[in-house]
Amino acid sequence: MKHQPSFFDGGQRLQMTESIELTIQSLQAYGPDHPHWGIAWSGGKDSSATLTVVTWLIDTGKIRAPETLTVFYADTRQELPPLAIAAEQIMDELRERGIRVEVVTAPMDKRFMVYILGRGVPPPNNNTLRWCTRQIKIDPMEQALRDRLDQLDGQILMITGVRQGESAIRDRRIEMSCGKDGAECGQGWYQQVLPNARGLRGRIATLAPLLHWRVCHVWEWLKHWAPEADFGDWSTAMIADAYGGDEAEEINARTGCVGCALAAEDTALDTVLLVPQWQYLRPLKGIKPLWRELREPKHRIKKAGLERLKDGSIAKNPQRMGPITLEARTMGLERILAIQTECNDAARAEGRPQISLINSDEEARIRALIAANTWPDGWEGDEPAADTVMPVVYQNGAVQPLLFGAGE
Ligand code: SF4
Repeated sequence: MKHQPSFFDGGQRLQMTESIELTIQSLQAYGPDHPHWGIAWSGGKDSSATLTVVTWLIDTGKIRAPETLTVFYADTRQELPPLAIAAEQIMDELRERGIRVEVVTAPMDKRFMVYILGRGVPPPNNNTLRWCTRQIKIDPMEQALRDRLDQLDGQILMITGVRQGESAIRDRRIEMSCGKDGAECGQGWYQQVLPNARGLRGRIATLAPLLHWRVCHVWEWLKHWAPEADFGDWSTAMIADAYGGDEAEEINARTGCVGCALAAEDTALDTVLLVPQWQYLRPLKGIKPLWRELREPKHRIKKAGLERLKDGSIAKNPQRMGPITLEARTMGLERILAIQTECNDAARAEGRPQISLINSDEEARIRALIAANTWPDGWEGDEPAADTVMPVVYQNGAVQPLLFGAGE
């Protein structure tokens, strides 16, 4: 099939061809040393481009196929719905080609919704509590790799979608942050943390063959090249469409969880909602404010005074705020379920795909954890509400009494 004309034709197309050529060179340089390859794929734009480019290069004989290729789809259960739907289709296309695909999901009690709403751990934030990426992406991927390595001899070459653009490459810098330059959450961690993980050290190498791609190349590939038969006939246009269709080339959207508690804005979701057929997902805008609300003192408990830790030392921050109350967890669960119902009622009415924020197993587990009065380690649930006014306790044990006692 002939390549469809796009704004990219001409000089920029040449750049695209050069980018692909560099990708081929990096795979030819490092690939043959490794009989087994894995691809860490989250369904976001960068790792989807990486997955489809690498598979196409193998299919067309432009690079030599490894002995085994395993695609690890990191399903956090938090993906933006249009991306989750596209990922399902791409998985079908991979399996049709005989490629092994493993869906990697955190164990039930470690999943984002269950951990927050069932166990009561506050939603992550950028400062003290960024537990999410490791727990819902990295740890499950490490485990999947360990399991796969048990079946194989030698090393795995793990291919990631880390993409840094030209300036970062000049600086030989790989960002861990998923907030930089529209990067895809988790990919930098896969690149840097996985090779050193327990049980994996020395057994995995990593390669980011699209490291030098600019974001416009990623969109161009997903929207105009990969869907064509000559380049693999992939269902990747949906990914670009999810970010605004023809406008997608202009958008350097970070990809990650829907309602990510760490991102300043819901950029990806906002862009999705500009597309008429995705507007039924508008209730998802209620997720991010809910995470913010659940971090407020009125929904949490706190330590009453000095806290002695397991090792006998005194905790640095007396009266620290802790988990979410059982009532607030129930409120959060009902809110998420209401958002899901509202989206799915509209989906049914409009003949659009339904979404799954919390499935029936997860809901049952959350309710069971709440009913069992479950608290994170180090908490009993009988601590005071975090908005209780109390004398201030300092780490040296000094107490600053209340200026006015209760009732005064
Ligand atoms: S996208 Fe946001 S909420 Fe999801 S794992 Fe990354 S930082 Fe955490």
